[in-house]
Amino acid sequence: MTTKPNRDIDHLIGELNILAQISEAEPPVVTRVVFSEADLRARAYVKGLFADAGLTIREDAIGNTFARWQGSDPDLAPIGTGSHIDAIPNAGLYDGCVGVLGGLEAIRVLQQLGFQPRRSIELIIFTSEEPTRFGLGCLGSRMIGGVLSPSQATALRDKECRSLDELRTQAGFSGSLDSVALARGHYHQFVELHIEQGPLLEQEGLDLGLVTAIAAPASLRIQIEGEGGHAGAKLMPGRKDALAAAAELILALESAAKSTGVIDTVATVGVCEVFPGAVNSIPSRVRLETDIRDIDAARRDRVLTSLHEACSDVSGRRGVVITTELVNADPPATCDPVILDQLEASAIAAGKSFKRMVSRAYHDSLFMARIAPVAMLFIPCRGGVSHRPDEYASPEWIGAGIHVLARTLASLAS
Ligand SMILES: [Zn+2]
Repeated sequence: MTTKPNRDIDHLIGELNILAQISEAEPPVVTRVVFSEADLRARAYVKGLFADAGLTIREDAIGNTFARWQGSDPDLAPIGTGSHIDAIPNAGLYDGCVGVLGGLEAIRVLQQLGFQPRRSIELIIFTSEEPTRFGLGCLGSRMIGGVLSPSQATALRDKECRSLDELRTQAGFSGSLDSVALARGHYHQFVELHIEQGPLLEQEGLDLGLVTAIAAPASLRIQIEGEGGHAGAKLMPGRKDALAAAAELILALESAAKSTGVIDTVATVGVCEVFPGAVNSIPSRVRLETDIRDIDAARRDRVLTSLHEACSDVSGRRGVVITTELVNADPPATCDPVILDQLEASAIAAGKSFKRMVSRAYHDSLFMARIAPVAMLFIPCRGGVSHRPDEYASPEWIGAGIHVLARTLASLAS
């Protein structure tokens, strides 16, 4: 593709703004929890735009939506793109939506230029990228990638104890969850456009980030059972203070993360609940929730192992009982060098500045990586702000992302 797309970005910005009005909260606040009335109205609006562009729509049993631009050789595995349109409470209008409506705009640009893809191009809306309702993010792509089994999905409940099955059926998505997972090779390649959700591109004055790896969290819940007692009467020898034990674990985790010597390893204890939580009572029970992330699974899991070792050491020395529960340990993804090279060539051809970078947040691409070569294209967002109503990406930034995505899709689908 050598011709520069000449569509007006205002049209797309208008569509992003209309989508943002479809919210459970008062605009400009965007709240669109999966399978809510707002989510369903938003899906209907976007599917209408897909249909207007002549795309063929398929929905799977969990509500992932696939809009296909048929290629001249429809038997070839398609090129995938897309993101999500659900939004956490009190969010903004760019996270996810830029990847869906921007993907659509890239297709419309190519259509207007008279481009005919050889491979079909499939634009995907993934169900429930945000964990708001079921406590687990990337529900749709997790199931496509076979990481969440149908029986695990069936067991999911929201805070009102309503099951995923009940809610998806009510939303109009029926059929067996067995049919959601796709085989490796179903997509030839997948590329996702997204806002950075961090400050680096804006700070460095760059148009685009080419994502080389997507970090993934391992999350461990730790329960420490010690022995309570009167803070004055019970003397120090023989105490089994659960919080003092927790303190050792927190510091052990911090030191394990630092000891890798790599900036990409991060570990956090974000929850520390102390029981009974009285100033004159020795803590008898503590619950910790930890989050360990890296772009290298083996390195991340070594930190996890160190934490487990610290648990048995502390429990032995202090006489407390420590139990752990691994909540999740998603594998990080390495992005595909072929797609990255194509993104780079497209950025150069489009005259856009860029750098290669790591995604510290995880995205649907993390799970698409289980079945296809993937890469991501980041655009800046103001101040690195995301998951807030003041999230903002300028029309120029969005336009640059769409331009480069369109060129890349055209090359990959040729
Ligand atoms: Zn997102």
